[in-house]
Amino acid sequence: MSDEVDELGRWAELFDLPLGEAVPEPEVRRRGIFSRLKESLTKPSQTISPQLAGIFAPGLITQETWDDLEEALIGADCGMDASLALVEELRSEAMQGRIVNRNEIAKGLVAAVTRQMTPAPPKISLHADPTVILVVGVNGSGKTTTVGKLAHRLHQLDQKVVIGAADTFRAAAIDQLAIWADRSDAHLVRQAPGADPGAVAFDAVSSGVSRQADVVLIDTAGRLQTQHNLMEELRKVHAVLSKANPDAPHETLLVLDATTGQNGLSQARLFGQAVPLTGVIVTKLDGSAKGGIAVAINRELGIPVKMIGVGEQLDDLQPFNAQAYAQALFSPDHSPS
Ligand code: GDP
Repeated sequence: MSDEVDELGRWAELFDLPLGEAVPEPEVRRRGIFSRLKESLTKPSQTISPQLAGIFAPGLITQETWDDLEEALIGADCGMDASLALVEELRSEAMQGRIVNRNEIAKGLVAAVTRQMTPAPPKISLHADPTVILVVGVNGSGKTTTVGKLAHRLHQLDQKVVIGAADTFRAAAIDQLAIWADRSDAHLVRQAPGADPGAVAFDAVSSGVSRQADVVLIDTAGRLQTQHNLMEELRKVHAVLSKANPDAPHETLLVLDATTGQNGLSQARLFGQAVPLTGVIVTKLDGSAKGGIAVAINRELGIPVKMIGVGEQLDDLQPFNAQAYAQALFSPDHSPS
C-alpha cells in the first residue's frame, strides 16, 4: 500500500460507497493512511521494543532467536496462540532457506502477521434504510469519541447520520455526543439522564427512518452497578433494536482500548456472550507501548478488527489494514535510533 492511498477512499471502500463528490480535507489528502498510522505508532511509546530491535539486528539465527522472538511477541500483546503460530511459521520459512539472517525476520514477520489477519476487513455495507450500528464497550474505551469520529467520516461521505445517546447513565457522555453530532451535522436523539437506554435506541431508529437517514449510530453505557446489569442492559438494547427493525442492529462493534492489553480479550469474550459482535475497533493504538492486541483478537476470537483509533482528533480513526498495521508495529525502521 502506498502513501498516496487516500484515506477517505479507504472509508468509502469499507462502507462500500462510491467516493462521489466527497473531498477530504487537504490535511488528510496530503498524508496517506499508512504515513498517518506510522506517525502515530512511531511516537516514542510506539517504537518497536529494544528486544525486537535486538532480534532484528544482523546476525545468525539460533534457537535463542526464536525463543526471544516468541517472548517479544507475547510481550507486545500478540497473545500466546498467535505468537507461537507466528514463530512456527517463520521457523519453517527459515528451514526452507527463505529466511537466512536475523535481519530478514522483520520482513517475514510483517508478511506472516498480514497473512494471519484478515487482509481487509469485511465491508460494512450501508444497504439498509437506515443501517443501524450499535457501539459497545467498557467505560473509557473510547466509544463516544469513536461514534463522533464515525459520524464525521460518514458525513464526509455524504451520509445522513442519526446518533442515539443510549448511554443515559452518564450525562457527560450525552453532552459530549451533542458536540460531536453538531460537528458532523448529525441529528442527536437524547433523553434525560437516567432514561431507559432501550427507549433511546428505539427512538433513534424511528428518527432515522422518518428523517430518511442512511446510518443510525448508537452509543451505549459501559458501566452499570454490576457487570451482570450491564450485559442485561445491552441484551435489552439489542432486542429493542430488532423490534424497531428485524435486521437491526446491522453491525455491533466492540470498542477496545489497546492499552488494556490482554484484558481486552476477556472484555471481548464477555461482550460477545451478551450480544453477537460483528467487529472490533481498537482505540488508543497511539498510546500503547505494545499494540499487538489486534493480532490476538483476530486469532483468539475470530472477530475481525474493522477500525483503529490512533488519536483524539476527529480524523484519528482509520479503517483497519493488516499490512499497514503489521508494518507499523514490526518494521525495524521504527526502532529507536
Ligand atoms: P467511552 O467512555 O467509552 O465513551 O470513552 P470516551 O469516548 O469518553 O473516551 C475516553 C478517553 O479516551 C477520552 O479522553 C478520549 O479522548 C480518549 N480516546 C478515545 N479514542 C482515542 C484514541 O484512539 N487515542 C487516544 N490517544 N485517545 C483516545
